[in-house]
Amino acid sequence: MTVADADHLSHLLKQHFGHDEFRPLQRAIIDDAVAGRDVFVILPTGGGKSLCYQLPALADETGTTVVVSPLIALMQNQVDLLTANGIPATFLNSTLDLDELYQREQDALAGKYRLVYMAPERLMAAPGRALLARLNVSRFAIDEAHCISEWGHDFRPEYRMLGELRTGYDGRFADTPVIALTATATPRVAQDIVRELALRDPAQHQGGFERTNLYYEIRPKQKVVPQILDYLHENPLAEGIVYCQSRKRCEEIADKLKASGIAALPYHAGLEADVREANQHAFIFGDARVVCATIAFGMGVDKPDVRFVFHADLPRHIEGYYQETGRAGRDGLPADCILFYSGGDRAKIEFFINQKETQAEQDHARQQLEQVVKYCHTTGCRTAALLQHFGEDRPGACGHCDNCLKPPQVVDATEDAQKLLSAVARTGQRFGTSHVINVLRGSEAERVTSRGHHELSVHGLGKHQPAGYWRQLVEHLIHHGHLALSDDEYRTAYLTAASKDVLKGEVRIELAQSRVAKPSSERRART
Ligand code: ADP
Ligand code: ZN
Repeated sequence: MTVADADHLSHLLKQHFGHDEFRPLQRAIIDDAVAGRDVFVILPTGGGKSLCYQLPALADETGTTVVVSPLIALMQNQVDLLTANGIPATFLNSTLDLDELYQREQDALAGKYRLVYMAPERLMAAPGRALLARLNVSRFAIDEAHCISEWGHDFRPEYRMLGELRTGYDGRFADTPVIALTATATPRVAQDIVRELALRDPAQHQGGFERTNLYYEIRPKQKVVPQILDYLHENPLAEGIVYCQSRKRCEEIADKLKASGIAALPYHAGLEADVREANQHAFIFGDARVVCATIAFGMGVDKPDVRFVFHADLPRHIEGYYQETGRAGRDGLPADCILFYSGGDRAKIEFFINQKETQAEQDHARQQLEQVVKYCHTTGCRTAALLQHFGEDRPGACGHCDNCLKPPQVVDATEDAQKLLSAVARTGQRFGTSHVINVLRGSEAERVTSRGHHELSVHGLGKHQPAGYWRQLVEHLIHHGHLALSDDEYRTAYLTAASKDVLKGEVRIELAQSRVAKPSSERRART
C-alpha cells in the first residue's frame, strides 16, 4: 500500500463518515481487506465493525459488496445511514414488494450500489442465487458471523449455507475476498467460523474485549423492582435496559416500574412488530427511560448513551451476558452493568434445560449455566473472568468491577475446614461432598440416619453456616489440594497428604466471601 492509498482511505473516512481518525484496529483491518485478503474481525460491540467493510466497499474500484446480516430490521437503518453519507446502498428482503425488489435488483446488476444487504436465507435461496450469478461481487461481508457456529449463542441454520459461497457457484467466488465480523467469539466459535466460511489464510484481528468504562457488579437479588427503583432514584438521569428471562417478566417489571412513575416499556418477540418498533424508538430517542427486554432486544440497537444494563434474572450464558452488557456506555462514558443474582434462578433455568431434546443440548446448556454461576460467585476480578472466557488473559485488578473496587471480605475458615475434613474422615471417605455437608449441617434425612451418621460427633457441627458456604469451602480445599474427589462417577471425597496439615492446624485456610453466598450472620438474622 502506498502513502497515497493510505491518504485516500483517511480522506474517505472524513468525507463520507465524518470521522477524523480510525479506531484501534480499523486501519489494519481495512488495509488487509483492500489488499484482497480474507479477514476475520472480532471486535466488541461498539468497536466500529461496520466501517471495516463499508470503507473498503467505497474504496473498491469496481463491483459491489454483498453484506450478509441476520436482522432484517437493521438493514433499513444501515442503508439509511450509508445513503445519508453519500454511499449508494440498498437492501433486498421480504419486507419489499415484488416491483420494488425487481427494480433494486436491476439497479444492483447495473452496478449502481456499493453495498447490497441481504439476509442469508434470501441470499442462499433461488432468487438470491440467480442474482449472485450475474452480480459483479467485489467482496462478501458476513456480519454477526458467530451465527454460523452451533457453539455460539445465536446459531442460525441458514448461516451454515454460507460456506457454499466459496465452494459452490462453479467457483465463481473462489477468489472473492470475504470479511467476517463478530462481537463475540470464544476460541472454539472462532475456529468454527473460519472453517465453515472456508476462509483462506484470513488476516485475523481481535480487539481487546475489555471495556474500561463499564462497571461490573453482581448483587444478591432480593426484591428486584425496588432494587431497580433505588438505582433509578440515585441516578435520576440514567437511561438503560433491564434484561429479563421471559416475556411475562418483561411485562411485569415494566408495569411495576410504570406504576412507580418510571417511563418503562417492554420489548420482546411476543409483541406486534409495530409495537416493538415503537418501543425501541421511544427508548432510543429518550421518550422511555427504561426498556425491559428479553434477549430479542439489542443486536444493533445504536443508542450510545445507555447508562445501565441490568440483568433482573440470571442469564443463560456468558457470551450473551457479555454482549448484552456491552450495549451500555457505547459513548465511552461510565456505565453500570449489574446482575441481580439468586440461586432460585439457577433452578428455573435447569428446569428449562431438562426440557431440551437431546442429551448433547442439555449438556451444553448445563455447562454454559455452570460458567455463569461460577462467574457470579467468583471472588476475583470479574473482568478477568469475562475476558478469560474469550481467551484473553488479563492479570491484575481491572479497577472497574465490584470485587476489585471493594475486595470481598476474607474470613478465617481454618476451624471450619477442620470440621469438614473430620466429617470426611468420620464417614469413612466413602461419600460425596453433599452427603458430608448434610451430616455437618445436622440433617436427619434417611440417607443420614440409615447409616448412623446422625450419631457421629461431627453431626450438626456445621449448622451455623449455610450449605453454600460449605460448598465454597469444599471447592477451596480441593483447589488447594487439601481434599480430593475420586475420578469415578461417585465423586467420593477423600483426604490427601496435605489434609493433615489443616487438621493439625499447621496451615490457615482463608476464604473470600462471595458476594452472592449469604454470610451466616445475615442468615441468622432473618430466621
Ligand atoms: P459495531 O458494529 O462494532 O457494534 P458500529 O459499526 O455500529 O459498531 O460503530 C459503533 C459507533 O462507532 C457508530 O456510532 C459509529 O459511527 C462509530 N464509529 C465507528 N468508527 C469510528 C471512528 N473511526 N471514529 C469515530 N466514531 C466511529
Ligand atoms: Zn476487576
